[in-house]
Amino acid sequence: RAKDALTETVCFYEVSMDEAARSRRLIANDLWQAVDRKELQLHYQVQKAVHSGETIGYEVLLRWHHPSRGTIPPSEFIPIAEECGAILPIGEWVLREACREAATWGNEQKIAVNLSPVQLANADVADLVHRVLLETGLSPRRLELEITESTIIGDKERALATLRRIKAFGVTIAIDDFGTGYSSLETLRAFPFDKIKLDRSFMSEVEASPEAKAIIRAILALGHTLRVPVLAEGVETRSQLDILLDEGCDEAQGYFLGRPVPVGHIRPAMEKTAAA
Ligand code: C2E
Ligand code: MG
Ligand code: MG
Ligand code: MG
Repeated sequence: RAKDALTETVCFYEVSMDEAARSRRLIANDLWQAVDRKELQLHYQVQKAVHSGETIGYEVLLRWHHPSRGTIPPSEFIPIAEECGAILPIGEWVLREACREAATWGNEQKIAVNLSPVQLANADVADLVHRVLLETGLSPRRLELEITESTIIGDKERALATLRRIKAFGVTIAIDDFGTGYSSLETLRAFPFDKIKLDRSFMSEVEASPEAKAIIRAILALGHTLRVPVLAEGVETRSQLDILLDEGCDEAQGYFLGRPVPVGHIRPAMEKTAAA
């Protein structure tokens, strides 16, 4: 009986592994065609200055509306896109689309685009950025690229050279999800960042955990010593925002300030700032 149970467990395991692998393959297949089939959409989430409440810009977040599976979250399809290489055409589409959109706004607000480690390692992403800026006419200082620490765990020298080229255009670099990687301090020392984005796990714990608050305070001190502004991600409540104001955090982003929305929801605000 024990043997039967074991066999059953093993078979179940194999079947579900098979299913997962099959599902990933199907998704990868569909991903290659997602751009051409116009299934991808960008959402925009506002980033604000904590003290003045002024809008600094918007982070661009990718959505995939799959014809039969419905909307698939980026946490599910980005890793697959990275694994199969489809992140290169998809990432290029995101960058071009976002820059083209922001170029129509007639204001100084920034657009923050997430850059995959695969893009930074495999594609000549500096040339791509240069080309897209020329094509769209977006001022380089209005473009920010968000990269996570894992982005530079691979070939550091090459990543560093690429980031320096991109920065030379006037584009800024933000380090995303800061505080979750294992080489935070070393990364900060070696890489030319313009902004630190504090991972949202700190926000969700800030009220209950004195440790989370102490870490936020320490990262703010670090950022300010390095003269790099700090943005807190995942601000969901008024009281979290009040804590950030108290602690002297520079910028914030999160559901309390605005959910990620399709561009039609933010355009009216653009027209107002352009007219003012
Ligand atoms: P991220 O760059 O750290 O983006 C922030 C994520 O937090 C977004 O999830 C956003 O919707 C979510 N978020 C914002 N405010 C709040 C809040 O107050 N509470 C909570 N609980 N969540 C909040 P999303 O859109 O699901 O994206 C997940 C991740 O997928 C992103 O994390 C980013 O790493 C990746 N991603 C999204 N779009 C792209 C893209 O165009 N290219 C690449 N390479 N990665 C992308
Ligand atoms: Mg991001
Ligand atoms: Mg983040
Ligand atoms: Mg993230």
